[in-house]
Amino acid sequence: MLLTSHPISQFRKNPRFYLMYDGFWFLVCAAVLGTFAVTGFTPLISGPAWWFAPVFPVLLFCLIWAHLLIHNATHGNLPKPINRIAGELLGLCVVVRFASWDIIHMRHHKHTDDRAKDPHPNFPSFWKTVFHTIVNVEKQLFEQYYEIWGDTAENQGRERRRAWMSYGTNVVLLASWFWLLGPAFFLLVFAPCNLLAGLFVIHFNWSTHNGEAARSLEDMRPTNLSGPWYRLGNKLFAGIYAHQMHHDRPTMFNPAKALAAAEAAIQEPAEQQAA
Ligand SMILES: [Zn+2]
Ligand SMILES: [Zn+2]
Repeated sequence: MLLTSHPISQFRKNPRFYLMYDGFWFLVCAAVLGTFAVTGFTPLISGPAWWFAPVFPVLLFCLIWAHLLIHNATHGNLPKPINRIAGELLGLCVVVRFASWDIIHMRHHKHTDDRAKDPHPNFPSFWKTVFHTIVNVEKQLFEQYYEIWGDTAENQGRERRRAWMSYGTNVVLLASWFWLLGPAFFLLVFAPCNLLAGLFVIHFNWSTHNGEAARSLEDMRPTNLSGPWYRLGNKLFAGIYAHQMHHDRPTMFNPAKALAAAEAAIQEPAEQQAA
């Protein structure tokens, strides 16, 4: 049950879930660091080396796919027994972890483009969206908690403790990657690739909520993008730019395929009528 249930459903059942969740990963990372220290572990990669350059785009591509698979895991679109475990392992690779992805993303689907409740509402300006996304997500985790468990002084204290645990878990998780991969690879490849993959996800969210065409906040809504770059993006990343379709049918792994099938179904009777 624990290995297959979704973090959001545990979050709704147990007021201490998120603290315990990040506490668990804190202990795992602390144990990894302790083992490295006791055994005098030497990082896997020394360097810098010339091959960092070709590895950079490959790792970036893999990390974007990691976000994409985590997204599908939040919707239960991977084979049922592995959604949770795949989400957890990939969540460690992209540092943010599965529970925050799950809780925030379910909130995004419930309150899409609601200026106050969407955890990452978009603005016509991409860089303004980036800034607000980074600032807003932690605030929206608090809000989600208070909506379920009540905005009391006791719960505010709990959430502050949970936030400190989350920051601490980020620190030991990053330290584990740093020690495992070595400073050169971590600083020149792993960290920048993760930042760029995160930026890619924010750009994806901005563009698919009509960021490029929007002139005002009222224009923000899920949309299916079909320009040449977005068609290429759909081929590389399992149809992510058919985002209006994703909001309509979130259990489709590749919403672009579902959109093409729906469009073909509309066209066929029209062609039959014309004939
Ligand atoms: Zn969306
Ligand atoms: Zn989704």
